Amino acid sequence: AQLDTLDIVVLAIILLGTAAYLTKGKVWGVTKDPYAASMVNANGGAKAGKTRNIIEKMEESGKNCVIFYGSQTGTAEDYASRLAKEGKSRFGLETMVADLEEYDYDNLDTFPEDKVAMFVLATYGEGEPTDNAVDFYEFITSEDPSFSNSNDPPLGNLTYVAFGLGNNTYEHYNSMVRNVDKALEKFGAHRVGEAGEGDDGAGTMEEDFLAWKDPMWAALAEKMNLEEREAVYEPIFAIVDRDNLTKDSPEVYLGEPNKMHLEGSARGPFNAHNPYIAPIAESKELFNVKDRNCLHLEVDISASNLSYQTGDHIAVWPTNPGQEVDEMLSILDLKDKRDAVISVKALEPTAKVPFPTPTTYDAIIRYHLEICAPVSRQFLGTLAAFAPDESVKAEMVKLGSDKDYFHDKISKNHYNIARTLSVVSGGKKWDSIPFSAFIEGLNKLQPRYYSISSSSLVQPKKISVTAVVESQLIPGRSDPFKGVATNYLLALKQKQNGDPNPEAFGLTYELTGPRNKYDGVHVPVHVRHSNFKLPSDPSKPIILIGPGTGVAPMRGFVQERAKQAESGENVGKTILFFGCRKRSEDFLYESEWEEYKKVLGDKFELVTAFSREGAKKVYVQHRLKEKAKEINELLQQKAYIYVCGDAANMAREVNTVLGQIIAKERDVPESKGEEIVKNMRAANQYQEDVW
Ligand code: FAD
Repeated sequence: AQLDTLDIVVLAIILLGTAAYLTKGKVWGVTKDPYAASMVNANGGAKAGKTRNIIEKMEESGKNCVIFYGSQTGTAEDYASRLAKEGKSRFGLETMVADLEEYDYDNLDTFPEDKVAMFVLATYGEGEPTDNAVDFYEFITSEDPSFSNSNDPPLGNLTYVAFGLGNNTYEHYNSMVRNVDKALEKFGAHRVGEAGEGDDGAGTMEEDFLAWKDPMWAALAEKMNLEEREAVYEPIFAIVDRDNLTKDSPEVYLGEPNKMHLEGSARGPFNAHNPYIAPIAESKELFNVKDRNCLHLEVDISASNLSYQTGDHIAVWPTNPGQEVDEMLSILDLKDKRDAVISVKALEPTAKVPFPTPTTYDAIIRYHLEICAPVSRQFLGTLAAFAPDESVKAEMVKLGSDKDYFHDKISKNHYNIARTLSVVSGGKKWDSIPFSAFIEGLNKLQPRYYSISSSSLVQPKKISVTAVVESQLIPGRSDPFKGVATNYLLALKQKQNGDPNPEAFGLTYELTGPRNKYDGVHVPVHVRHSNFKLPSDPSKPIILIGPGTGVAPMRGFVQERAKQAESGENVGKTILFFGCRKRSEDFLYESEWEEYKKVLGDKFELVTAFSREGAKKVYVQHRLKEKAKEINELLQQKAYIYVCGDAANMAREVNTVLGQIIAKERDVPESKGEEIVKNMRAANQYQEDVW
């Protein structure tokens, strides 16, 4: 019998339905979370609902090279992006950058053999992983990570390269990359090239990175059979003019960090993605000299759900100074377009736009890019192609390829990117650089951390900050070099106190923030919890070593002990070593120590070292040595020891001196003294908060 049309339609529906049922909807693309699939496609995976499966992610976006980063201050993330760009433009690799936090690692054992994983890993603090790398690190360095299959060896298929960012003044130099590299090798993965190590302590991070990557690329090219081609700039982001919008349109971001802030409904949790716009309750100058400043601020968190513990860090989200914003807009010939509204779109499904859009050129430069930072030599090489004329181009190529020449002309003078472009071109405008190159080539403007200088027991809703203002005279340069965040805070302090003519010694900042949202005296902040903590038993003696602004957390500690003593608790001996140049100039909190002494009596001792008062320079480590006997006795009573401040010299010397003190007083070899100090660190009896 013939089937009529109706029958065919009915049959078709039944067949389709059955197929859908049998395949559980898979053929229709209806996965467990239909929203997830559509979001990945629509937003390049930058939004909620995305996969945590890196292999799936690479497959679906056609990638054969993933660059994972563990980053705290943005440098590792920046290096990861640069590797991604270079891999693509020089070798045709299909690269993607991945935040370690955003993926799971139990399937790393199924990583395809013909792909490569790169790890760019910063070591933070005392050999710790960065916040975003904690889970990965714990997984990969565990005795027996639960990989999804039972391959032997589990990572026999994995090809990887590794670069670490560290600081040789720290005890656990580059321990992240070293330990991860060791673990990957242990599980049978194959490293290509050397595991590179950049050293911030020696100030050679950028050059270490450049020196590492070239042989790495050569080795990788050979291993993966890649052919090198002439690198041309390929944008990752498209800049889309939004002519129908103006800077007053409500949906345009003028520096607001996220949608809640844009809509005026900012609420917690406040964290590294969402700052609290905090009122500054009070601010004052701590130094008694004209040419140097140290700020004391009281940040009021009472109207937020933020909390802190004594010893934590507060992060300040700075704004770039107006002069630098103008200089940048000017050299790029964007001054007339500063308020033009643009959207930034990722051209790559795996790339993330680092700030919300639509926005304006002015807002991007002022609030989101690290425009004042040291210039990357590699970036100059990239920009050479857009030079305003051939001779400028030749100069850029030379700067990009000659390390010493670059140092002499650019880094030595502390030039930032705008100043560099201007000096190199003799003021000629650089009007043909795609703006995307800056979004890709400059770091995201980073919050700056400060060791909280108050006790949460004494003032739970007010955070004290003690910050020395960064201003340096650079030989051969007419204007002083100024740090971004501290001069911004200085300007806020000047505003609050109605200092006369503040611009004469500050820089102009847009202190009222986007849409005047920071009006009054406000600063965007969040709190970062740290491991720098008093012993839970207050009767334990403590030794505090905090010269200069290193005294910040020590002030919090002493405040806390005084409060505990007032409440009748048995507080152990508290000895503070403080150092500065001169009693009359930069003796921080001089009168406060007397107040604490009144409460704590013999339980508190302040030992000072003034380096510029006598003929001989005296530092805290010298004072420590003079008190060797007492220090040793306290340590034998299980005193906790805390060191805060300069990582490069002071913290290291204190470490050495302690070993010597122990050796001498206990009559053991120096090597034994060093070992005891090491063990104290491992047991958290010796804690550092250094930068
Ligand atoms: P930036 O602009 O960040 O400049 C900082 C330095 O970078 C400059 O001195 C210079 O050496 C270099 N630099 C920047 N731009 C260039 C350029 N174009 N060319 C060459 N070199 C350049 N500081 C305190 O005062 N008090 C504290 O309690 C405190 N606690 C801290 C706690 C932690 C955990 C950390 C990590 C840091 C802490 N710091 C503290 C330091 C603080 O975070 C800032 O680094 C400091 O205030 C300088 O910030 P800035 O934005 O003013 O300077």
